[in-house]
Amino acid sequence: MTSFNKVIVDPAALAHNYRYLLSKTAPGVRLMAMVKSDAYGHSMTRVANILGTSGCTLFGVAEVSEGVALREAGCSGEIFIFLGFDHFDVDYLFTHNLTPVVFTVEDLERISETQRKRNSDLNVYLKFDCGMSRLGFSPADGGEVFERCRTLAIRPCGVMSHFPCSDDRQSGNSELVADTFYNIGSHSSSNQPLVRSICNSGGLLYQPGSHGDMVRIGISLYGYYPDGREGREDVFDQGLRPVMKCITRIIQIRTVGAGTGISYGHSYVTERETRLAVLPIGYSDGYFRTMSNKAEVLIQGRRAPIRGRICMNMCMADISTIENVAVGDEVVLLGSQGNETIDADEIGSWSDTISYEVLCALGNNNHRDFLI
Ligand SMILES: *Cc1c(COP(=O)(O)O)cnc(C)c1O
Repeated sequence: MTSFNKVIVDPAALAHNYRYLLSKTAPGVRLMAMVKSDAYGHSMTRVANILGTSGCTLFGVAEVSEGVALREAGCSGEIFIFLGFDHFDVDYLFTHNLTPVVFTVEDLERISETQRKRNSDLNVYLKFDCGMSRLGFSPADGGEVFERCRTLAIRPCGVMSHFPCSDDRQSGNSELVADTFYNIGSHSSSNQPLVRSICNSGGLLYQPGSHGDMVRIGISLYGYYPDGREGREDVFDQGLRPVMKCITRIIQIRTVGAGTGISYGHSYVTERETRLAVLPIGYSDGYFRTMSNKAEVLIQGRRAPIRGRICMNMCMADISTIENVAVGDEVVLLGSQGNETIDADEIGSWSDTISYEVLCALGNNNHRDFLI
């Protein structure tokens, strides 16, 4: 069965973005594709497959279960697990050859113990918190952590951290964070150099001095700039191409008189006779209720405003000024139609959020099709 609502993913745009981002790094810097949250709504397994064909061999997910699913779907690259693991799940790291990014001594001990039991080694990276105040060892404890690894017979492949403000080119914060990060591991007694990775999309695009050995790209891979519209307007080459489109169809057209309240709470009252297209998409499909009376959709290549509250499965677009609209016509919620475009940054601006959340919400709540 199909749905009226469809998310369309463009593999060519994805591959283009990967190549474009690769061209922004120095030779030898490796790109990790962040495919957590089902690849920001674009489908983790499909995205990993498409990028694998483009030469990507590094993939990042949040949890062990995602890593297992990705491996079982045939991904042969290195899969990084960023949020640790339940101790019952430690064996999956070994059986599915997953690489944990570790941030507690307890997890190091558990890995060490399992390495001994299974007589096999695991690639392990260490996560440090250099200013995000989120996950990670404290850089001040670096010496101790490396010493602990040594006694546990764990040889860390590398260190990772995360920029809190890399999307803000005016902020001087990233230099401070990078400084702290690049000093970590001076205590490491290992001869093997540590792989260093701190950049997300903002780091890659706006902190070119901090790329290190490995850059972890998420939003830019899917065609958006981490600082939204600003990025798109300021960066002189408009290199990234949005990968996701979202469409629906009109299921009924109604005409109501002047002074008629529309949808729950009558938060919109018509000023004149109004023609409404009823659309079968609502907040349970990731079309946020907070953009009631703010959102616009594209019909016949023209912008039609959403009137009244967005319901769980429906909303109403005002098509009074658009000619020749019929039931069954395609409606673009995200993407282009004719000469008009609505991107995830604009949807974010209507709902007080960012492109990241828009893509996850629409992508993970609607049927996905892939262009060939
Ligand atoms: C999601 C994520 C990224 C990617 O961030 P973007 O801003 O989407 O590029 C990088 N690193 C880690 C650890 C992440 O969780």
